[in-house]
Amino acid sequence: MIILASYAIICPVNSNPENAVVSSPSYTLIDFYMFDYIIIGAGFAGSVLAERISREQDKRVLIIEKRNHIAGNCYDYYDEHGILVHKYGPHLFHTSNAEVFNYLSQFTPWINYQHKVLGHVDGQKVPIPFNLNSLDLLFPKSMASSLEQKLIKKYGFDVKVPILELKKENDSELQYLANFIYEKVFANYTAKQWGCRPEDIAAEVTARVPVFISRDDRYFQDKYQAVPKYGYTKLFDKLLEHKNIKLMLNTDYKDIMSFDAKSGAITLFNQPFSGQFIFTGLIDELFDYQLGELPYRSLQFQFEHLQQEFFQDATTENYPEDYDFTRITEFKRISHQTLQGTTIIKEYPQDYKRSIEGQNIPYYPVFNDKNTELFNQYRALSEKFSNIALVGRLAEYRYYDMDDIIERSLQVYKDRYSQLS
Ligand code: FAD
Ligand code: UDP
Repeated sequence: MIILASYAIICPVNSNPENAVVSSPSYTLIDFYMFDYIIIGAGFAGSVLAERISREQDKRVLIIEKRNHIAGNCYDYYDEHGILVHKYGPHLFHTSNAEVFNYLSQFTPWINYQHKVLGHVDGQKVPIPFNLNSLDLLFPKSMASSLEQKLIKKYGFDVKVPILELKKENDSELQYLANFIYEKVFANYTAKQWGCRPEDIAAEVTARVPVFISRDDRYFQDKYQAVPKYGYTKLFDKLLEHKNIKLMLNTDYKDIMSFDAKSGAITLFNQPFSGQFIFTGLIDELFDYQLGELPYRSLQFQFEHLQQEFFQDATTENYPEDYDFTRITEFKRISHQTLQGTTIIKEYPQDYKRSIEGQNIPYYPVFNDKNTELFNQYRALSEKFSNIALVGRLAEYRYYDMDDIIERSLQVYKDRYSQLS
């Protein structure tokens, strides 16, 4: 009997990183033969699939996660001042998909929350997405009114127009407006976030924040908008609460597993593993970068605690014109806590460099034709193996929001695993 305690850290699902590193001395190699599934990553992709498989199929799942906590990029915790903060940047849940909302509602009660963002433009704070109220704040009354009428006549009311579409306008007044919004809201923000011009990144990226011909100041218009009442990490605790799920934190899968990209053979602790393998990490890492590295963007987060009730007027304020950071978010406005001080986070975009500490967390795939082509080549490699599924923002090189990845994971479960005996 080989005791693995000195090697692997396995603990009950627990959101507290302090507890997470308590190792269990009683896991033996024989336990590892008994897993039906290995899942890499305890973010939404890995956790939703683990929940479905363990509960619906009664199969045994091992999740391997390199961080010291569950919840992936949605991880939140109470900071030393008692404020619920999001470690990897602000996460606001929104969806129009009832199935996704109902599924998640099994694991958390909600706080109704409608996200609003203000952008600092020409010394004013205006609603983002740029809308008719933003127009009124930035232009003289008669000009704003004329532009509004033209916009409504051309596109209709309550319509979203991507900035790169509006830029194609022939009408000289609308052309002027498009250039104004492009320069003041998108050009510099996109340069900070992506290191390029809006035209040099896939159009779907800037289309996420379209010009909105409306007076609705909310950032999203989805039917369901809310945050988990006790935070995302608690939600994940519930998702993973099942006797069939074992979790190894602080463990890079490469340290305990091997995957042969030619034959598809998998080993776990040097023993052959013949079950299903679900991978939610970087697809290029899985294939040992054999076709080259896929680019990602990273972020540095700077938290500040201030001895004042509130710091700013909206949950998030964007800085498209000045500073190296893109936006500041104030957490109390999300959690609705009534504490004395306030904690904010500034986001500083940077390139992802896997060898450099502090730049080595990939948050955003870089969406352009060249990178999509490289991703497609990696995906073709993975499709040779019927026992491997790639799911998630990194594994699929997609700009998934939380609801997208939950929808996708539920679909992968239905299509691939619900019928497996
Ligand atoms: P992840 O959460 O990244 O999980 C993947 C996990 O795999 C990670 O925990 C990682 O540590 C682990 N892993 C990777 N490699 C290895 C390895 N080698 N060994 C072991 N484990 C490994 N979405 C919204 O809907 N609303 C928002 O407001 C929102 N805001 C966001 C703000 C920011 C700054 C960012 C970056 C994202 C935001 N998102 C938001 C998107 C959301 O974070 C993602 O949709 C979601 O986290 C994707 O889940 P995932 O499981 O695919 O990835
Ligand atoms: N964007 C911008 N100015 C803004 C807000 C967004 O130029 O004030 C662009 C920018 O390119 C950004 C993209 O729109 O990366 C998508 O913004 P979103 O807020 O959806 O980004 P995320 O929350 O995913 O970082």
